[in-house]
Amino acid sequence: MLNSLPFAYFQNKFVPFAEANISIATHALHYGTGAFGGLRGIPDPQNPQQILLFRLDRHCQRLSQSAKFLRYDLPADKIENTIVDFVRVNKPSTSFYIRPFIYTSDIGIAPRLHNIEKQFFVYGLELGDYMSPEGVSCRISSWYRQEDRSFPLKGKITGAYITSSLAKTEAVESGFDEGILMNSQGKVCEASGMNIFIVRNGQLITPGVEQDILEGITRDSILTIAQDMGIKTIERPVDKSELLIADEVFLSGTAAKITPVKRIENYELSTTRPITEKLREKLTAITENRDDNYREWVYTIPLE
Ligand code: PMP
Repeated sequence: MLNSLPFAYFQNKFVPFAEANISIATHALHYGTGAFGGLRGIPDPQNPQQILLFRLDRHCQRLSQSAKFLRYDLPADKIENTIVDFVRVNKPSTSFYIRPFIYTSDIGIAPRLHNIEKQFFVYGLELGDYMSPEGVSCRISSWYRQEDRSFPLKGKITGAYITSSLAKTEAVESGFDEGILMNSQGKVCEASGMNIFIVRNGQLITPGVEQDILEGITRDSILTIAQDMGIKTIERPVDKSELLIADEVFLSGTAAKITPVKRIENYELSTTRPITEKLREKLTAITENRDDNYREWVYTIPLE
């Protein structure tokens, strides 16, 4: 069980986490009509009286965009201000994860997005490693990622996560840590809650945004960091067979950070991962605000 942070933002105020509850008849629970974000925060290792949030602006922007699909006008700055207040109220002392969430909140039946109340809440959990930093084994999922023509994949919509959940459980029940989903074209897409990168001949390759991936903020950061480090980056469709023979494969996400892949089904990957390790080291330094060149990615919140 993960520990929650003491206070949640719920119905426009901060209340103890245990009091932030909704009805069993809540519309979004039945129809998957919610959207969410997920950010990591840490006490500043150089000054624990200060909290660091990685790319707060981008996370708020993405949630505000997701809200549009729910026909809900939620400006990014409203989300940002609420998250900053949330951190000040909770004063976290360990690394944590913030979950801002919007949903159709009426008690009502019939799937729709018009003429229905929406609400916004925020809660947080203490969170250390989400996946083993040593590396994970993956299965190619028998479930395929949704297609943008039938699902708004540029939003982070709750309903999409049935597919992620099926892929993850299928992988775990067959002895793997994680599932890798292909898109409807049969190209490599992403993992249950992470984007995917491969390294071939010193080049960093990842499926492009037109490949039905979620536009991951960690993915975007890694592409920038890699380019700044002089690593050639390519966004293009990736074949399943390339994945199986790649020099390195890793998963990326807010919770997973950079997680190396050590095996895909019965294909073992090398335990030497120079590019993955270089990127991981750099990303850690950036999120801990130890890298002067990326200070604008780190939002600092003094707790006093
Ligand atoms: N894909 C999916 C399906 C996800 O849920 C996530 C996690 N939000 C990601 C990719 C990675 O996105 P990010 O780097 O923004 O956390």
